[in-house]
Amino acid sequence: MGSVRIKPLNVNAFQKASGQPKAKRKGHGRNGAQDYPAAKRVKVAHPTLKVGQLCPKCLRAKLYLLKTPARLVRIVAQPLFQATVHELERLRCALCGSVFTAPGSATST
Ligand SMILES: [Zn+2]
Repeated sequence: MGSVRIKPLNVNAFQKASGQPKAKRKGHGRNGAQDYPAAKRVKVAHPTLKVGQLCPKCLRAKLYLLKTPARLVRIVAQPLFQATVHELERLRCALCGSVFTAPGSATST
C-alpha cells in the first residue's frame, strides 16, 4: 500500500508508429475485472445466505461457496480514475444448482 506510481498521460505514446494501429482492444470498451489488476478488492458476503445453509429454493440441500465470485467493477472518477473490484460471494446449491449471488450495493458510499 502507498506505493502507487502515477504516470502523467503521454499523448504522444498513442500516436507514434502512425502506420499500425496496435494495442487493439478486444471487446468494445467493455472492461472486466481483469483489466484492473491494481484495483482495490472488496469482498462482499451474501447478506442473508451462508455456506452450509439450506437452499432457500429447493429446501433440500445445502449451499456451498463457489470459487469464482461474481465480479463487479466500479470506477470512481475522483481525482484519478479509481477502480474497485467487488467480489460478490456466490453460493450454490449442491442439489438443484441454484446460485445465489450477494448483491452489489447499488449506490456508492
Ligand atoms: Zn437447491
